[in-house]
Amino acid sequence: MMESCECIDTPYPPDELLVKYQYISDVLIALAYFSIPVELIYFVQKSAFFPYRWVLMQFGAFIVLCGATHFINLWTFSAHSKAVAVVMTIAKVSCAIVSCATALMLVHIIPDLLSVKTRELFLKNKAEELDREMGLILTQEETGRHVRMLTHEIRSTLDRHTILKTTLVELGRTLGLEECALWMPSRSGLNLQLSHTLTYHVQVGSTVPTNLPIVNEVFNSPRATRIPHTCPLARIRPLVGRYVPPEVVAVRVPLLHLSNFQINDWPDLSAKSFAIMVLILPTDSARKWRDHELELVDVVADQVAVALSHAAILEESMRARDQLMEQNVALDLARREAEMAIHARNDFLAVMNHEMRTPMHAIIALSSLLLETELTPEQRVMIETVLKSSNVLAALINDVLDLSRLEDGSLELEMGKINLHGVLGEVIELIKPIASVKKLPMTLILAPDLPTHAVGDEKRLMQTLLNVVGNAVKYTKEGYVSIRASVAKPESLQDWRPPEFYPVSSDGHFYIRVQVKDSGCGIPPQDIPHLFTKFTQSQSGPVRSSSGSGLGLAICKRFVNLMGGHIWMESEGHDKGSTATFIVKLGICGNPDSSDHQAARRGQAYSGSGGLARFKHLVKDDDDIGFSNRRNQRSF
Ligand code: ADP
Repeated sequence: MMESCECIDTPYPPDELLVKYQYISDVLIALAYFSIPVELIYFVQKSAFFPYRWVLMQFGAFIVLCGATHFINLWTFSAHSKAVAVVMTIAKVSCAIVSCATALMLVHIIPDLLSVKTRELFLKNKAEELDREMGLILTQEETGRHVRMLTHEIRSTLDRHTILKTTLVELGRTLGLEECALWMPSRSGLNLQLSHTLTYHVQVGSTVPTNLPIVNEVFNSPRATRIPHTCPLARIRPLVGRYVPPEVVAVRVPLLHLSNFQINDWPDLSAKSFAIMVLILPTDSARKWRDHELELVDVVADQVAVALSHAAILEESMRARDQLMEQNVALDLARREAEMAIHARNDFLAVMNHEMRTPMHAIIALSSLLLETELTPEQRVMIETVLKSSNVLAALINDVLDLSRLEDGSLELEMGKINLHGVLGEVIELIKPIASVKKLPMTLILAPDLPTHAVGDEKRLMQTLLNVVGNAVKYTKEGYVSIRASVAKPESLQDWRPPEFYPVSSDGHFYIRVQVKDSGCGIPPQDIPHLFTKFTQSQSGPVRSSSGSGLGLAICKRFVNLMGGHIWMESEGHDKGSTATFIVKLGICGNPDSSDHQAARRGQAYSGSGGLARFKHLVKDDDDIGFSNRRNQRSF
């Protein structure tokens, strides 16, 4: 800036024109120099924060001094005084000092200025980054809002077709689409069928083979894929008169796998697990798909998949509910039929009870009387056969009646005071005649701890005893039959009682244990578990009952269970005899004397009922030598 100063104050022959130009230039340079500090001062004043004010002031002084040298120079073009030369010298020296100081200062502050510049650049970058993030957040927010809106619309229904239609309509509205369509896999899985579109006038039902590369590309990508507007998937509506080709994307919609899941009119889900949604932007706007819009499409596709699976589950459960209702109706019908069958059976039982038992007893009584009269041997054999058959039939009728009542729960125990010793003695009395015909000694052992009296159902106890003792006599040809009655103690039953059965006597009751042992034909071990099943008889062994019905033990078991007890059979095997044991719960009797009238009733209680009727053929069963020889046994 200083090189233009011509400060040598020597006389010089001036070239008129050159001098004139220099003169004008110096005036202009001086003006320019003086104006710069004014501008700098204005700048410093206006800028709120400027860290290098004093550097600027120094710079301003340097410029002013430069200007001053040019200004003084105006007086040096012609001959000039010494004073001018002195002023010029002072100005130049000052200018030199200030310019050197400014140059040094600049060297000093340049690194500072440079770091400021770096910081500025860094801040600028940061600001740009923040801007981008802000944009992303805004985009995400927008996407989220759209998804929420769409999801709400989609979820507000659980019907598949409405879900799909709503999705297309909402997507079309949110993204401003020209067209939005859904291709569903066909039943065979070989084709995709156009099932839903945004516009109603479009012909739905076109197909596209699934093995097309573009279809595979969409199937293989979890994200929305841009597809050419000319590909078959995008050929949904004719693009007449369009000059700008539309931007098209396609996204797969997973059709979630649900095992055993079939929807009537919808193709087999397990065969093809994707549908394709195609979205077309308006053709005339030259709009392009933006990233956040594609993200939205991805999210919506997943949402649709979830909503569809919910809808499918709902459909399935509704179908199951309908099925259940149908089954309920059928069950109700079956229940009513069963009730009618029970009614019919009850009616039958009533007929059996009143109409069949009476004539049967008449036949038995009359044939017994007939046997007392004079008969030819042939007639006697015939009447005896009639009597025997009638007895068997009467026993069967009684057993069936008992069993029916036991099974439908209508049979209730008739509780009363029992003379235990008396009942056991009476059983012996009743069966002894038959045993004596077979020459079988019968023994009754009553344990000393057995109370004489107890509270229970005497009739059922007696019936059980008669069945068990009767069997012992029936299935024993020679040897003995022994009956032992005692109070049941848990420790003496460890092997035979079931785990849940634990006969512990208490204040109010005790358990009686009756064991009937015989030396008869025995029972094979494999038959033992089935003896208490109705109509079941042991298939092996030498003596089988042709007249038995296989009901006796089944009834005994139910009686015993009703009396809170347990019954079981033991046998060592063929011809080794058998032991029948039962335990029943009885009440402890407070006033034993008042039971006499029960004993009086006893004979009447068993005559003609299942108890005695069964014994009228005991002997005949085992030994078919003729009933006539034992006419005296018919009396019981
Ligand atoms: P049934 O009318 O046939 O006697 P039960 O229910 O009283 O019917 O007996 C079932 C089967 O158990 C009998 O057919 C017989 O095979 C067998 N059974 C019962 N008690 C004895 C016994 N004391 N000795 C041998 N076998 C017996």
